[in-house]
Amino acid sequence: MTERRTGTEPGKAGCVERPGVDRRAASPVATPPEATFPCVDTHCHAHEDPDPSSTWERARGAGVVALVCVGTDVDRSRDALETARALGPGVAATAGLHPHEASRPGAAGADGLERLLEEALEVDDSSVVGVGECGLDYHYDLSPRAAQRTAFAAQVALAARFDRTLVIHTREAWDDTFDVLRGERAPERVIFHCFTGGPEELRRCLDLGAWVSFSGILTFPSAGEVREAARACPEAALLTETDSPYLAPVPYRGRRNEPALVGLVASSLAAVREEDPGVLAGVLLDNAVRAFGGRLVPLEATGPPPASGSAPA
Ligand SMILES: [Zn+2]
Repeated sequence: MTERRTGTEPGKAGCVERPGVDRRAASPVATPPEATFPCVDTHCHAHEDPDPSSTWERARGAGVVALVCVGTDVDRSRDALETARALGPGVAATAGLHPHEASRPGAAGADGLERLLEEALEVDDSSVVGVGECGLDYHYDLSPRAAQRTAFAAQVALAARFDRTLVIHTREAWDDTFDVLRGERAPERVIFHCFTGGPEELRRCLDLGAWVSFSGILTFPSAGEVREAARACPEAALLTETDSPYLAPVPYRGRRNEPALVGLVASSLAAVREEDPGVLAGVLLDNAVRAFGGRLVPLEATGPPPASGSAPA
């Protein structure tokens, strides 16, 4: 495995909630919540954890039957892929360039990503299940907007070429996001990760036939619009994620997140929709499998967690 980066250098920290999360800190949760239903974390960065196998073990103990390690630059995408292969069934990876990394040139940019995908898919077809996270982030604007659009368009094309699910990160950039998607041959499967819009943005995502992934933001008191969208979203388009180590749900907000907490996201989604969490869990599992084109293969929900310290084959 390549050397792990800490994510503390400028421009490296990932998704939505950048400041204040120390990836190296121990988990805030001594014992993850008990499994009451199987759940799926469709978007996390577990490959950046100090010990991804213990992250996976804790997640399994909390009922997580599948998770997707999402790449944010070429090196981290390679780490995500290697982690998925090392941890085995139930864990998959994506390869992508986050909008924060959009100005990286050559081998560290879209060209390098293309080569990584070519190499990975030659070895096996199932470890890399998506392209992304990619998109536009006009909140932080850590890369010039023109570069963000170029890198995003290149990854839309890669997702179509390799028939992988496109994983989109968009923040304060809805119009341009849909504009780029209109200009490219869109891949068959698209996920809007960590959905932060309201009912109007939801409608635009659904018009594309996309899945909409809800995170711990759903539990934030200020996220009324997101909850409104979660209520309005057709069941077949719903996904859940942690985006860990970011965006820990209430009551762990501001601390280090982990995939073991995705059940809290699923429970709050069920509560918002006034649905039975166990029934919704089955739907979310089916949706996740379809959203990744059948390449994400969940563990049997009844399987025991692995013995401590065991190295998956
Ligand atoms: Zn992310």
